[in-house]
Amino acid sequence: MIRADDLSLTGRVLDAPGSFAAHVAELYAAFDLTDLPCGGLRVNFANGSISLSVAERAMAIAVTAVSSTDLFVLREAVAGLVEGFDPTLAARLVWDRSLPKLTTPPNFRQGRVVAISHPGAGYTRLRIAADHLAPFAVSGLHLRLLLPPEGRIPVWPSVSDAGRTVWPSGADKLHDPVYTIRAVDPQAGWLEVDIFLHGKGRTCRWAESVRRGAVVGLIGPGGGFLPMARHLVLAGDETALPAIARILETAPPDTQGQALILLPDARAAQPLACPAGVQLRWLLRSAGDTLESGLAAVDLPQARLAGGRHLWIAGERAECQRLRGQFNASSGWAKGETTIAGYWVRDVQA
Ligand SMILES: Cc1cc2nc3c(=O)[nH]c(=O)nc-3n(C[C@H](O)[C@H](O)[C@H](O)COP(=O)(O)OP(=O)(O)OC[C@H]3O[C@@H](n4cnc5c(N)ncnc54)[C@H](O)[C@@H]3O)c2cc1C
Repeated sequence: MIRADDLSLTGRVLDAPGSFAAHVAELYAAFDLTDLPCGGLRVNFANGSISLSVAERAMAIAVTAVSSTDLFVLREAVAGLVEGFDPTLAARLVWDRSLPKLTTPPNFRQGRVVAISHPGAGYTRLRIAADHLAPFAVSGLHLRLLLPPEGRIPVWPSVSDAGRTVWPSGADKLHDPVYTIRAVDPQAGWLEVDIFLHGKGRTCRWAESVRRGAVVGLIGPGGGFLPMARHLVLAGDETALPAIARILETAPPDTQGQALILLPDARAAQPLACPAGVQLRWLLRSAGDTLESGLAAVDLPQARLAGGRHLWIAGERAECQRLRGQFNASSGWAKGETTIAGYWVRDVQA
């Protein structure tokens, strides 16, 4: 049974400067932020919220979450925010009640690859079996794959006495790229990720040679969840195809809008389930298409529509930054109506 205690937590950062809240606001600028009357701030996530308010000689913190695992994740986020702002403040973060003793982070699972397929040229789909996957079906669309250094027995994250995740370091350091949960069936005990084989990096090497039975760590879920709006404009590249596919597949049948997916060439395309009112267009790099050129041809709904509208873009980080700049300069859309996320970083020298 879930107790109220499992879903909320308060604490303080003693002697925290007032500029801490401004730092958090800057970091989370792309999220749903609410100003609190006391001059504080609330960051609202799909899986809960973090509130900060200035109290006497301290920054008061309140965390609420939709599950005890999410509470752990948001508590970690607060500790990371404090440490990132000023490492010397970390020791002055105190929680108002003792935290449960854990050995492994509650958002960690050890998984095993049980099936390998190829949904389109250049993609490997891995079905990964693990216990207790119910949380991976709600509140976050993404996870981190945890891959040990090649040839080493994995050492997984643990939890310190202070309740923080301890990541293996040195020779045991894990590679932890973010992937989209393309499909998940908690009852059958599996989830799937689609890995775009971009040709470089640890994950691609692993995915190209992985065999059934391979062990892989999972940590999650995280990130945003499915955009809730009747009118969707979705645009993304190869790495965003799995997220767009899941959004389209789970969207209500009366959803309207456009989905643009940029691929190297037509061979990488795959059949996707899509509401009848959403027009799906493949953009091809081989034909000179870009996300920018594709989006330029889309009539974005200018007025707020019944049922809401959402613009969702994901792809290479610099391209997304450019698109965000262009979009922000010309639009009157509210923050909650857009998601523009950098999914990968092009090497500067490439
Ligand atoms: C929220 C989120 C969800 C994501 N979902 C997916 C998903 O479902 N499927 C998926 O395939 N990817 C997805 N990605 C992108 C993926 O995390 C990155 O491509 C990541 O860099 C892959 O790790 P890696 O180990 O292959 O390469 P890294 O070790 O990160 O990088 C190695 C080299 O590869 C280059 N590189 C990385 N990605 C690409 C690329 N796409 N094209 C060309 N060069 C590249 C880097 O510039 C670097 O030089 C997602 C990212 C985010 C943030």
